[in-house]
This record gives sequence, C-alpha cells and structure tokens, in this order.
Amino acid sequence: MLRLPLLAAARSTSMRRLVEGNPLTRSVVNRFVAGVTTQDALEATRNLHEQGLHITLDHLGEDTLDRGQAVTTTRAYREVLSGLDEAGLADRAEVSVKLSAIGHTLSTDGDKIALDNARQICEAASAAGTTVTIDMEDHSATDSTLDIVSNLRVDYPWVGAVVQAYLRRTEGDCRDLATAGSRVRLCKGAYAEPESVAFQDTSEVDRSYVRCLKVLMRGDGYPMVATHDPRMVQVAGELASNAGRTPENFEYQMLFGIRPDAQERLVSEGNRMRVYLPYGDEWYGYFMRRLAERPANLAFFARALLTR
Ligand code: FAD
Repeated sequence: MLRLPLLAAARSTSMRRLVEGNPLTRSVVNRFVAGVTTQDALEATRNLHEQGLHITLDHLGEDTLDRGQAVTTTRAYREVLSGLDEAGLADRAEVSVKLSAIGHTLSTDGDKIALDNARQICEAASAAGTTVTIDMEDHSATDSTLDIVSNLRVDYPWVGAVVQAYLRRTEGDCRDLATAGSRVRLCKGAYAEPESVAFQDTSEVDRSYVRCLKVLMRGDGYPMVATHDPRMVQVAGELASNAGRTPENFEYQMLFGIRPDAQERLVSEGNRMRVYLPYGDEWYGYFMRRLAERPANLAFFARALLTR
C-alpha cells in the first residue's frame, strides 16, 4: 500500500528537502550506503572483499539535469576505478552506473552525452582490469539503455546489462541477451510502472522472474541473479545446476545492508556473491526505493527518528 506513495516521494523535490534536511536521517541511511567519499567506498570494498564477497560500486546520483554534474559523476567513477586498481581490489570489484547520472536525462543530446561518459568509465574499468554494469531505470529508458549497452559492447564486450522481471517485455529481452559472453543482471524492478508495461501483482512478477531465470540459465551468457527473495535464490541455484553451471558461470547479487546473513551463507556454500555498494551524498532516491520495497524499513526509519 505504501509502495506507490514512497516511489512518488522518491522523485519529489519538496519531500527530498524534508528528508535530507533532517540531521537524524543520516544514521539510518548509513545502513544502506557505504559513505560519502571515494576513500569511504574503497574502505567498505576492502571489508567486503576480505569476507570473500564480490562488489559492484554505485556512485549515487540519478536524473541529473546539469551537464557539469554528469561530468563530475563520470570523474568520480574514473577516480574510484583507479583507486580499486591501486588498492589491488579490482579482481573482485566492478562499478554499476545509472545512465541518468551521467547525462541521459539532459534535454539536448542526452543519449550521446551518456554514451560518451559511459565510454570514459568503461575505458577506466578496462585499464583497472574490471567491468561495468549499466543499471536499468524506469521503462521510458529501457530501449535507449539497451541500445547504449549494445553500443558499448562493441569495444567492451564485458559491459553488463540489467533487465527487470516486472516488465512484460523482459522475457523477450532475456532471449536476445542470453548470448555468449553477455553479462545480464536479472532483478524484479524498483520503479512505479503502469499496468500497460508492467505486472502489478507480486506473484506475477515472481513467475516472470522464474521464466527469465530459465532463459538466462539455459542460455550462453553469464546470469547475475539480483534478488533477496529466498525462493528466487533457491530456484536460481536449482536451474543453474540443471543447466550444468558451476559457481564460476553465474553469480548472486544483493544490496549492501540487506540480508547480510544470506550473503555470508551463499559465500560459505561456494557461490559467487556480489554486493551492490552505493556511496556518495546523492542517496535520497536510492534510499526511498529501499523504503518502498519493505515497510519494515519504514518502521526502522521512523523509530530511529523518534528515539533520538
Ligand atoms: P522482494 O520480493 O522485494 O523481497 C524479497 C525479500 O527480500 C523480502 O521479503 C525481504 O526479506 C528482503 N528485502 C527485499 N528488499 C528489501 C529491502 N529494501 N530491505 C530489507 N529487506 C528487503 N532495480 C532496478 O529497477 N534497476 C536496477 O538496475 C537494479 N539493480 C539492482 C542490483 C542489485 C544487486 C539488487 C539486489 C537489486 C537491484 N534492483 C534494481 C532492485 C530490485 O529491482 C528490487 O527492487 C529489489 O531487489 C527488491 O526485490 P527482491 O528481488 O529482493 O524481492
């Protein structure tokens, strides 16, 4: 019931001012966000690396309407990638990028600017010896995001794509993407989407997730199973072993701060487990989507605000 208002709030400027302006919010945000600076991100990466986890770093920010901000974000990615290289962490840490943070939503030449900036990030990842995954945002950007991914893959074939099981089109996209060498993250989807394009019922989304998993596991690509849902994790493991995959041929992914016990267990069972690790000061949209996913997080947030 709260999901849609929270997702609407995630894009509201006045709500953003209210939440960001509250000095107590930060302690709650810290549960989901690694810190603000590149140094914070590298330290958190090292901690997770030492626990046997893989990492994908997300420099927080989205929907930028300022070309200078898109350049600053691109620079931040290049800086963290060279930091990963220098710290010897690039063997298990990559980056995740939202195209809207690097220019995709600019009114003039957004596609071109985002592609140019993404190329610079891919070049830095290539120099560091790691990879980049392009996050998926709301459905209005699906086609252009997949176009940019396919364009980047000409020079950087390891660029990862993301598909969202709640979209009706996604099973078909999985078929197109399940080709040799193609890294594909499957998630349920985190935005408010209309019924015309997306399943609304959680059981329909789950069924779509399983259908997509089947396509990806039986295909020739590298599936990245991004979910905290224990049933989806179990089904993914079964489908992977039925398809003859070993832990090197697919991975699980979860968000930093969510079900760390499950993350640890999957590693101890010999699986590859990657944690999505956000950092930076533009945490508002990310944080609100996490609240929307789980009302218990909202209670946790409210309690922290009231008891301080
Ligand atoms: P759900 O059915 O939502 O949750 C299953 C169970 O997981 C819940 O019962 C609860 O126990 C736990 N859980 C789930 N969410 C939370 C939470 N916020 N706090 C605490 N517990 C929780 N979405 C996009 O649209 N685009 C992307 O590019 C994208 N990238 C992602 C990358 C990774 C690595 C992950 C893990 C998710 C990503 N998502 C992305 C978000 C995703 O689409 C879902 O919104 C989110 O993962 C919740 O769905 P779920 O599969 O965990 O299942």
